[in-house]
Amino acid sequence: MEGVLNLPPAPTLTDFLTVLTGAGVSAESGIRTFRDAGGLWESHRLEEVASPPAFARDPELVWRFYKARWENASRARPNPAHEALAAMGAALAGRFVLITQNVDGLHQCAGSAGVLDMHGSLHRCRCTRCDTHYSMRNVDLTPALPACPACGGLLRPDIVWFGEMPHYLDEIEVALRRTTLFLVAGTSGVVYPAAQFVQMARRNGASAIGVNLEPPDNIACFDTFIQGRAGVVLPQLAAAWLDADKS
Ligand code: NAD
Repeated sequence: MEGVLNLPPAPTLTDFLTVLTGAGVSAESGIRTFRDAGGLWESHRLEEVASPPAFARDPELVWRFYKARWENASRARPNPAHEALAAMGAALAGRFVLITQNVDGLHQCAGSAGVLDMHGSLHRCRCTRCDTHYSMRNVDLTPALPACPACGGLLRPDIVWFGEMPHYLDEIEVALRRTTLFLVAGTSGVVYPAAQFVQMARRNGASAIGVNLEPPDNIACFDTFIQGRAGVVLPQLAAAWLDADKS
């Protein structure tokens, strides 16, 4: 049966909850994970579209790919998993951090504040010359190679490609030191450094809870693992935890 039979204990007033999400949390919004796509991202091998050498080799292909991903993400709607995490964040304000590997913006769309989108965002781009950042909505995307409105330099998607440094590593380290509960949902546990955050949190004394459709590669690192869809399990967890937090 899908659903949580033995819920992990609710955070107490002295707990700090850090959440890490991956592509599985957006699967029920219609955005495919790598696993579903057989290791491809919408029919492309990652090295063709998601690395600095790929952009240097064929920037028009990379831009076509990310414009299509951005349009797809802009049409998608948050699902109950995103909504449950937004509710947890609002209820536990000041003792909650949400880290995501997703680039689709659906956590922000569901109302989560201060999301650490460590792999960047499909909704932003930046200039390769002057580093000005833009919302995709505010740049002219008609040319095959969009140009910076400020300096005319070549724009690129604000996505962390393979071989690049993820965003917010300092903030993430602070959260992982502070956290007493670490909840990981919808990630296969194969992309580093995110896959090792659970070990870091546990070394600092946190308990770790995993929620995933299939057992993740790093399942041994969790105190509790709940197998199921994020859109079913996270709302149950949020309801139980937030009721307990009120009482
Ligand atoms: P992944 O594709 O490697 O793994 C996804 C995991 O989610 C799998 O283990 C799968 O069993 C699980 N899953 C599938 N449907 C689920 C559901 N309904 N509920 C719970 N779990 C479910 O994804 P990853 O671990 O996030 O790593 C892939 C990288 O790909 C990330 O760095 C991310 O930036 C990028 N990516 C992002 C998106 C997005 O923004 N939505 C989509 C695809 C890839």
